[in-house]
This record gives sequence, C-alpha cells and structure tokens, in this order.
Amino acid sequence: MTKKVTRVTLVNLMDKFLDCHCFGHNWRWTKDKDILWGRSKAVVQYTEVLRCSRCTMKRLDTIAVPSMDLVKRHYDPPEGYYVERGGEEGRPHNRRDFKREAFARRQKRWAA
Ligand SMILES: [Zn+2]
Repeated sequence: MTKKVTRVTLVNLMDKFLDCHCFGHNWRWTKDKDILWGRSKAVVQYTEVLRCSRCTMKRLDTIAVPSMDLVKRHYDPPEGYYVERGGEEGRPHNRRDFKREAFARRQKRWAA
C-alpha cells in the first residue's frame, strides 16, 4: 500500500523540512514491531521504527537476526516533505539546492 505523496515547490517547503533536507534526519528510536520468531523460538527478524524529531518522518528498518543485516527499509514521510523536481535541467533538487534555499532564507532574516 503506497500513499499518494503531494510534492511542494522548494520555496514553499517548510523550514523544519528544509533543515532535514540540508542536514539529514534526526532519528530517534521509538519501538520495535513485527518481531518474527524462528522455529527454535529465537528472534530471526524484527522491524525498528524510527522517527525524526524535527520533521516527523518515519523510518521502518527490518533487521535480520543475528547478522543485523538490513533486510528492507521503508520511509513514511510527513505531508509536504517531498519537493517537486526543479533543479538544473529539471532534475530532482540535491543537497546543494537545499542549502542554497536555506542560505537565501537566512539572508532575508539578516536583512530584516
Ligand atoms: Zn527529518
């Protein structure tokens, strides 16, 4: 089940979302879920649920036990997190574009 994600333009991106695009997410562990038990009653796989304390993005990592290898990763974004394409030649924005936008917003604050 994939939810439809509405994208915003870079200039309309909320500041807290822009920070995560610039610096990465501030992940916090919340809980474990979907623990898979093997025949010997040992855990063979579990899912870590992480949430970004800034933007509320959710990340679900399914981890194999005992190797601790990542089996799969799923992101559940907050509404308004993803940005429309619009970088050079219509490519998706990269971190440099986000930093440029953050810098422009700071300059407006410095000028005020
Ligand atoms: Zn975040």
